[in-house]
Amino acid sequence: MNNNGNKYLSFLNNNKQVIYSLFIIILIPFMMAINTWVVLRQQQFDLDAALRDKAIIAAQGLNTSISDDLSDPKKIQSKIDFFFNVTSEVKYVAIINKIGDDFKVLASIDSLEVGRNIDGQMRTLLGTAWFGDGAFAQEITSPENKKYGEKKIAYNERLFQVIVPLKNAKGDYVYLANIWVSAASTDYINQQTLVKAFAILVVTVIIVLFLVMSNARLFQYALLFQKLKEVDQMKDDFISTASHELKTPLTLIKGNVSMIIEDYDKIPKADQKKMLNQVFDNTNRLNLLVSDLLDVSRIEQNRIKLEFEPVDILELVDKVFNEYEGQAKEKGLKLIKTFKTEKAVSSLDRAKFEQVLVNLVGNGIKYTKEGEVEIIIASDAKGHSVCIRDTGVGMDELERKNLFSKFYRVRNDDTEAIQGTGLGLWITKQLIEVMKGTIMVDSIKGVGSQFTVIFPSTSDVRKPENKKVIKNLT
Ligand code: ADP
Repeated sequence: MNNNGNKYLSFLNNNKQVIYSLFIIILIPFMMAINTWVVLRQQQFDLDAALRDKAIIAAQGLNTSISDDLSDPKKIQSKIDFFFNVTSEVKYVAIINKIGDDFKVLASIDSLEVGRNIDGQMRTLLGTAWFGDGAFAQEITSPENKKYGEKKIAYNERLFQVIVPLKNAKGDYVYLANIWVSAASTDYINQQTLVKAFAILVVTVIIVLFLVMSNARLFQYALLFQKLKEVDQMKDDFISTASHELKTPLTLIKGNVSMIIEDYDKIPKADQKKMLNQVFDNTNRLNLLVSDLLDVSRIEQNRIKLEFEPVDILELVDKVFNEYEGQAKEKGLKLIKTFKTEKAVSSLDRAKFEQVLVNLVGNGIKYTKEGEVEIIIASDAKGHSVCIRDTGVGMDELERKNLFSKFYRVRNDDTEAIQGTGLGLWITKQLIEVMKGTIMVDSIKGVGSQFTVIFPSTSDVRKPENKKVIKNLT
């Protein structure tokens, strides 16, 4: 899945109330639609059954009225004409005579049919009704527009075709009636119900959407609450880390100072100096921590000010190299600088770029037990790269995942004894990005790490217009 997909998934995962609300919004109209569909189907089923029964009863009524006249086709014709005209739903009537194996039209609402032999599918139906036990009804759909008498049958109109064997006065089956009863009026009722149900559904959806939109604040509050919870958690983490980091040097300072105050005369001068040096070192440590915290607060509130000027990267790397060479040597490490370019100038804030170098070189030395830390400068068409490579503890993929997050520290046996706040790399990344640069990391657990910073190049170091551009960090 792409990054966007992952982003949306994790957003939904962290905001389950959004999924829940969407589910409700979709569920309500969906359930209403299902309910309407079920009710309508049942209604259609009931109406059809009633209509079929009505058609059969009508046919049997017709039988009673013509049973005495079955031998007189003219009388039958006039009776079926009457029957046809008084029943609005009946759209076609014919009386069929069975002569041997043939079926012949004796009287029909369509005068052209009278006397015709019936064959094909219709003949099979008549046979089924004749040899079966009584009335036979089936649903048919008109394949075309038709007209019988004054009554029209529309294309696709639903009809019930009822075929009923007719008895004569003696009670013998002698003829068959073929009657079509239209379902148009029941279909109209169903259609009207469907239109009304659909209108109600649309209104409901609009109301639900309106309610959701007018209560969009509820969503915002829910999201805000989630965010506040996260910020709260971060603050708690921060307070406990910061307090711990502040407490350690403070305890050392307090211990040394109280010993000096209490036993000032008894402590040899050399030891006193050692103790005061410890006080001094730890004051520095406190100073750095407080500076980090102030940096974070300034960056977060967009209060940092940058002074862009063409900076000679090689010169600044030389400076940081000289500052850290001694510290590396003390730890038994080799600090190396490799310049693969003769000139590397970029428009940067000098102090902030120095801070970036100090953080990365400082980390290289801090997280390397043996071996070397190398600073490599190279230039190409894209810009100048500063690469800080070490042979230190390294990090696996999981440990690298949140490397540039605030307060993040890799916690394992290798890093346990090393002090830090987890703020350095976050500050470093923010400073690099605000100076239009990028930072990448490569690392192998137990082998070492490599941080690469790339800045666009500025060709002329002495360009006056590049001097002192003061910009607010945004
Ligand atoms: P800090 O060093 O104060 O803990 P940073 O933000 O500078 O904070 O670094 C975050 C974490 O990244 C460190 O705790 C450390 O585990 C890891 N880290 C940073 N630089 C290196 C490095 N060069 N080699 C191995 N791990 C490193």
